[in-house]
Amino acid sequence: MTWAATILTLYPEMFPGPLGISLAGKALQDSIWALNTVQIRDFATDKHRSVDDTPAGGGAGMVLKPDVLAAAIDSVSDGRPILAMTPRGTPLTQARVRQLAAGEGVILLSGRFEGFDERIIEARDVESVSIGDYVLSGGEVAAMVVLDACVRLLPGVMGAASSGEEESFESGLLEYPHYTRPVTWEGRTIPEVLRSGDHAKIAAWRLERAREDTRLRRPDLIERHGGASQAPPSGARRRDTKA
Ligand code: SAH
Repeated sequence: MTWAATILTLYPEMFPGPLGISLAGKALQDSIWALNTVQIRDFATDKHRSVDDTPAGGGAGMVLKPDVLAAAIDSVSDGRPILAMTPRGTPLTQARVRQLAAGEGVILLSGRFEGFDERIIEARDVESVSIGDYVLSGGEVAAMVVLDACVRLLPGVMGAASSGEEESFESGLLEYPHYTRPVTWEGRTIPEVLRSGDHAKIAAWRLERAREDTRLRRPDLIERHGGASQAPPSGARRRDTKA
C-alpha cells in the first residue's frame, strides 16, 4: 500500500523539491509513497482570498485563520494523523518517526507568519510538532524534514545494507563515528582497532565511542533513555549523571 503524504501550505510549488531526488525521489517514482499538496488559499472565503488576520491581543505579524485551515484539513482528512509544524510543538523523535512510517501516511500543516490560530489544534485533533529549537520562516522545510525521515524507513526505500537498526537514536545513543580509505589522510590515521579484523573488539570500541560522544554532545539522550543503568565504559567516569 502506498504511504500517503498530504501537505497543506501556501507554497505548494516548494514540493516535492528535495524529496523528488535520491532515495525519496526514487521511492516517489516507484509509488512506495505519494505526495499531494493542498493550497490553503483555495479555502479562503472572502473576495480578497485572505488566509490570515491580525493577532488577538495585539502584537506583530499575522495568524492563519482557523476557519480557512479547517476547510483545508476537512478536504483531505481520512484518519491519517494530522501534524502541525510549529516551534511550539513536541520535538520530533526517531521513535515518533518510526510510528508514523508504520502507519498509512500523514497530513502536514505548514505555517507561515506567526503560525496558526490555536483553536485548530483541538478542533481537528492536530499534533503540534517541532523539528528543533530554532525558528524557521515557514513550515514547508519542516514538513520536508518529517517526510524525509519517514520515507527512508518505508519498506523498499533503503537497501538491506542500511537497515537503520544501528543508527543514531535507535539505541538511545548517537551512532559511533565512521571512517573510510585512505587509511592515512593529512597525517591522520583510521583508529587501528577498526583495521584489526577483530569483530568483538570493533563492536566494543564502537559502543564506547557512541557512549562517549553521546555523553559529551547529548547528555539529555542518556537521561531520557535511562542510560544511567548502562555500565560506563571501563576507566571512564560518567560526567552526565547528577549526584
Ligand atoms: N511565532 C512563531 C514562529 C512562527 S515561524 C513562534 O514563535 O512560535 C512560521 C512557521 O514556520 C510556523 O508556523 C511553523 O509552521 C514553521 N516553523 C518555524 N520553526 C519551526 C520549527 N522549529 N519546527 C517546526 N516548524 C517550524
